[in-house]
Amino acid sequence: MEKVVSLCKRRGFIFQSSEIYGGLNSCWDYGPLGVELKNNTKGLWWKSVVQEREDIVGVDSSILMHPDVWHASGHIDNFSDPLVDCKECKHRFRADDLKELNKCPDCGGELTELRQFNLMFKTFMGPVEDQSSTVYLRPETAQGIFVNFKNIQTSARMKPPFGIAQIGKAFRNEITPGNFTFRTREFEQMEIEFFVKPGSDLEWYEYWKEERYRWYLKYGIKKDNLRIREHDKNELAHYAKVCSDIEYQFPFGWAELEGIADRTDFDLRQHSKQSGKDLNFFDEVTKESYIPYVIEPSAGADRSTLAFLVDAYDEEEDRIVLRLNPKLAPIKVAVFPLTKKDNMPEKAKDIEKMLKVYYNTFYDEKASIGRRYRRQDEIGTPYGITVDSITMKDDTVTLRDRDTMEQVRVPVKGLIEEINNRLNSL
Ligand code: ATP
Repeated sequence: MEKVVSLCKRRGFIFQSSEIYGGLNSCWDYGPLGVELKNNTKGLWWKSVVQEREDIVGVDSSILMHPDVWHASGHIDNFSDPLVDCKECKHRFRADDLKELNKCPDCGGELTELRQFNLMFKTFMGPVEDQSSTVYLRPETAQGIFVNFKNIQTSARMKPPFGIAQIGKAFRNEITPGNFTFRTREFEQMEIEFFVKPGSDLEWYEYWKEERYRWYLKYGIKKDNLRIREHDKNELAHYAKVCSDIEYQFPFGWAELEGIADRTDFDLRQHSKQSGKDLNFFDEVTKESYIPYVIEPSAGADRSTLAFLVDAYDEEEDRIVLRLNPKLAPIKVAVFPLTKKDNMPEKAKDIEKMLKVYYNTFYDEKASIGRRYRRQDEIGTPYGITVDSITMKDDTVTLRDRDTMEQVRVPVKGLIEEINNRLNSL
């Protein structure tokens, strides 16, 4: 893990937040390469769950919501973790992480009584800081979907089974954040609420487990590092009938990338009760009316990005290589003049300009060509194009593959087609 963290800092994937002030615990900033990788992760998710399907539409709801939302959803009463403190060393623990509840795992000291700690961040809306102006930073994006259920179902003319997807920030005042970007207090979720007819929920639950598991494999996660773990009854959240986690084998152990839960009709029923609005779906054909059940695949954009990074990291004798799926790679093509002479830089810049319309590219003329290839290998750039003396005669370039390091000659006018073919074959 240290190697990935160090690469992330060195090459500009991820930095600690407010680093020049000593950093802010558990908050991270994505640098130039990190923001590309995370955007690609979110883009591929959106493409697969919204754009390539006919039964899911998107939404982007606000982070601050009416406080009644969180009463109805149960978050004000139930969204808490059990907390204990050590009376000696003052370390703080999530009680459900501890093997023994009467001894501090760090110093052996006595622990305080267990108390429930609500994970929602509170703030105030407007100039007066009192109870009536209290609002919460959303701890999940899901509620923005539930409260828009009727708006979207009627305006987009959707009929169960159908889904609503959203990508957005969520905030949780975690007791023990850590493991780099794995557990933070501000993070991004990629959530689907998939509305189905009651009775068909378990079938759709199985479908989404399989579908989402396959998505991680498609974008390069090694099968041995991915598993689905079904929750025990006592692990279930207050709204869930059944739930599974898709887990990744991080260097610190197996841990959740995504949860898939059968939330039943809990949320829509609660919002209907609290708001007084009818949230039934009325089927014009069968004349049935019902509150749909919901299957929720809820993934973390930061955790997926971290898993893709960790899984892609590889060391060979003389190079570090990030074997990212090319569709995830921050930069798709790097363009190099072999030397700075004979108009090679000008030619290489022209080629880069031509490619930039289609892909994120990078131009580099510094250091030896071997060094330049290695710098791109380390950040996962799948293709390297070199302009050499032959280019100046016959308008061909070498195209180097990151993984095999094989080089082939390609005519400049066939480059876009060649790169597209390679990208689309994945
Ligand atoms: P955990 O058990 O790890 O605390 P959770 O079961 O509370 O996670 P969910 O409520 O199911 O998580 O949230 C859905 C997804 O949101 C998780 O699978 C994860 O990818 C992401 N997520 C949740 N909490 C965090 C966090 N503190 N930091 C980063 N991502 C998170």
